[in-house]
Parts: sequence; structure tokens; C-alpha cells
Amino acid sequence: MEKKSHYDVIIIGAGAAGLMCAATAGARGKSVLIIDHSKKIGEKIRISGGGRANFTNIHTRPEAFLSKNKHFCKSALNQYTQDDFIALVKKHKIDFHEKTLGQLFCDKSAQQIIDMLVKECTDNNVQISMETEVSGIHQKDKEYAVKMNAGEFTSSSLVIATGGLSIPKIGATKFGYDIAKQFNLGIVTTAPALVPLTFQAALLERCKELSGLSVDAVVTYGKNSFREGLLFTHRGLSGPSILQISSYWQEGSEIEINLLPDVHLYDALKEKKNSAPKKDIKTVLSNYLPDRLAQSICDDQNIKDKIAELADKKLQVLANAINHWRIKPSGTEGYRTAEVTLGGVDTNELNSKTMECRKHEGLFFIGEVVDVTGHLGGYNFQWAWSSGYVAGQNV
Ligand SMILES: Cc1cc2nc3c(=O)[nH]c(=O)nc-3n(C[C@H](O)[C@H](O)[C@H](O)COP(=O)(O)OP(=O)(O)OC[C@H]3O[C@@H](n4cnc5c(N)ncnc54)[C@H](O)[C@@H]3O)c2cc1C
Repeated sequence: MEKKSHYDVIIIGAGAAGLMCAATAGARGKSVLIIDHSKKIGEKIRISGGGRANFTNIHTRPEAFLSKNKHFCKSALNQYTQDDFIALVKKHKIDFHEKTLGQLFCDKSAQQIIDMLVKECTDNNVQISMETEVSGIHQKDKEYAVKMNAGEFTSSSLVIATGGLSIPKIGATKFGYDIAKQFNLGIVTTAPALVPLTFQAALLERCKELSGLSVDAVVTYGKNSFREGLLFTHRGLSGPSILQISSYWQEGSEIEINLLPDVHLYDALKEKKNSAPKKDIKTVLSNYLPDRLAQSICDDQNIKDKIAELADKKLQVLANAINHWRIKPSGTEGYRTAEVTLGGVDTNELNSKTMECRKHEGLFFIGEVVDVTGHLGGYNFQWAWSSGYVAGQNV
């Protein structure tokens, strides 16, 4: 595609936020070039939500986002809401459904979301250039000069939309953070988030035995609790509740898991001790938990007895191991499997109404590269759409 040498806007990163920003700026009549080093456009969208893209959440609210400044996301989320994105999806006749907890997924494929965004871009004369590497950026008078393999291009506005560090194998780089540093912007320490937790040998053995088993659980760390599925895997614990808490968990500390959130187990066991004293404890537990899990807990507690033979104290210990299971993760699976990156460009550096840098007119940061991280459930895409739209309105 023939490129001119100056654009109103150059966007680096053709992912969720970059494409939304490009389409929005293009619709305002701006000349826009969006570039990406990957071969394929919107790879993270393609693999998201198990291939069906959990593209937003109908309950999007600021409380579902982590950031050093918890108020920062409010303006963008208000300016471009989940309803606005849903309207766009409907305009493109993409069928979707709510899976659970307000999470909206495509009926068919995440590719539909990519096609929709690319169409919005091309309809608005956005130039898209894939497999394009940037070797340097500098400020030239009031313009930004971007050196690429295809030559040097200038723009009045430059938008950095290169995402976070998760899943390097599909193109994640630290490019956005490096540019932030180049322009003397603060960065909030990054860490993998929405990521499975790993455990030391003994617990890992139990997880392996139970691999594939999933239960409804409440997982708590500090003041934050999530009630969603918990999955035992051969590497540790995963499932939505664990991914959610991983965004809050601090290395070296414990999390608490309630494997039976609707039952006060100690009371239930005391009642059973009276009403069915001859029952094996494992049989009693199997009324509440999957067989394999009940067996594993009994083995771990070293109890095989009939319920009547267990002292109340022992019942309390057993109930605590289920209602208040406290464990210390040894770490996380890291960026290799994390869905998002916590931290990023410090929001103090940006105007929340526009996403423009306070120190550098015409320089914008949007999407995951910014220190705003959503809960699991479509919130991260909504942040990408909202921040991308807001920047697109102001470039
Ligand atoms: C497996 C997985 C599943 C997910 N599922 C969901 C989900 O269902 N719902 C949800 O809300 N969120 C989900 N997420 C999170 C969501 O994908 C991201 O938060 C979102 O894509 C961030 O958008 P972004 O535009 O900021 O970054 P990205 O979408 O990651 O886009 C960044 C782009 O920048 C490009 N880039 C990077 N470095 C350079 C460079 N040096 N030069 C040029 N280009 C560069 C990349 O190739 C990429 O195309 C998922 C993430 C993963 C990993």
C-alpha cells in the first residue's frame, strides 16, 4: 500500500485499543496510519474468550479495574460505554450471547470482532501496515517522527497502543514501556495478572491428582473475594476465581479458599454426627463435594473413620480445611499464560479525559500499556475500546 510521509495520526499497535482509536480518528476525517510488527492483525482478540472473544461486560463499572489511581478509568468508560460497543457489534450483525456474570461472547468467532474493527478502519480510510517494525521515535518541532523499516513518517499525534507483556509468543513486547521511559514518563511496576497460581511440591501433588476437577469456590485475598469456578490443574490452581485473585495476590502471602461457599460445614457435620453416626466421613463429604476431592481431603487430613468416631475438634479442623482452606502460592505461571499485565504507564502522566500525555502534546497511550487492568470477564477489552475511542476523539 502506498504511504504518504505525513499523517495526522500514527498509531503503533493494531490490537483492540489501536484499531478502535484508528477507526474513531478516521471517522473524524483524520488521516491515520496504524502499524504493527505482527503478521496477523488483532491476534489477542482472535485467541480471546476461547476463540469467541468475551468482548465486553454489561456490568462494566470502575470498581472492576485495578490501577494506582482507581478513578482514572471513569472518564473513558463514561465517554464510550459497554452499550456503545454493543451497538457497534449489533450494527455489524454479529450474534452474541451472555455466558455468565454479564460476560458477552460472539456466538460464532472472535474473528468477527477483528473483521468488524478492520472494516470500521478501512471504511474510514485508515491505512493499516502490518509486519512493520519501529526502530526509533523522536520529536521534530511539533511533530513526531517514526522510523520504520519502510522509512521515516511524521504525524501530529502519536498513539502508543502496543499492549502489555502477556503472551510474548504472539507479539507482546515492552515497546510501549520503553517509549514511556524515552519520554520521561513514570511506569507503575508491571506483573502478570489473570494468571494461574503455582504451588510447592506437596500441594502440587494434590493438584495433579485432582487435575481437571472444577468446583464453585470463593477465593479471598485481603479485602477482595471472587466467587467463580476453581480448577485443579497439573501445574496448580486455575479457573476464573483463581485468575481474578491473582491480580491482587502479593508474593509470599496466603490466599483463602472456600470450597463449599453455601454450606457452613462444621454445623452440617455436627448434625450428621447425630443423624447418621455410622457413615464414613468420606461418604458424608461426598454429599457436598466431588468424590475425588472428598477422598483427597480425607487423605490429607489422615482420616478414614466413621463420623461418630471423630471428636468435634477434628470436625472443626476438617470443616476449616474446606470452608477456610489457606494456602500459600509459590508464584504464578508468569507472562507465558497471563491474560493481562498489571501496572504500566502511570496514569498521573495522562489526561483521563483524552489519554494524552500531560508533558507531551500529541502523545497518547491507550489500552493495556496503561496502568489500568480489568477483572476477568470482558473488562479488559472494554478498557481497550473506551480508551481507544477517547484518544481517537482527541488526536
Ligand atoms: C489468552 C487471552 C485471552 C483473553 N481473553 C480476553 C477476553 O475474552 N476478554 C477481555 O476483555 N480480555 C481478554 N484478554 C485481554 C485482552 O486481550 C487485552 O487486554 C487487550 O487485547 C488489550 O488491548 P491492547 O490493544 O492494549 O493490546 P493488544 O490487543 O495486545 O495489541 C497490541 C498490539 O501491539 C502490537 N505490538 C506490540 N509490540 C509492538 C512493537 N514493538 N511494534 C509494533 N507493534 C507492536 C502487537 O502485535 C499487538 O497487535 C485476553 C488475553 C489473552 C492473552
